[in-house]
Amino acid sequence: MRLVHFSEIDWDVDELEPGESAPELPPREVTLTVADDLDVAGEGADFLSDHYGWCVLGFQFEDVAQVEEADKCPKCGERGMDRLAWNEDCTEVRCVSCGTNYVPPAE
Ligand SMILES: [Zn+2]
Repeated sequence: MRLVHFSEIDWDVDELEPGESAPELPPREVTLTVADDLDVAGEGADFLSDHYGWCVLGFQFEDVAQVEEADKCPKCGERGMDRLAWNEDCTEVRCVSCGTNYVPPAE
């Protein structure tokens, strides 16, 4: 599995009638785990549709770099490099997702 960050997701919403309130749409930007062999450029729209139940007109995406399995956040399992940050002294890693500080195992 790998992580993909989807952004600028263009959900297919019908034009609203006057007085009709906008439906609650999924986020325009989301990071999801996808199968290693998923062709995101070709199948990403179907993937998002299956996931949220809305049709997708377009989107941007990029793969998210991940840390090694052993270095993931011990609390929530976060592996996205952009979600894990070393502190100033490089003694601890802070997980942005759940706020845990932890010391990854030595190499
Ligand atoms: Zn965490």
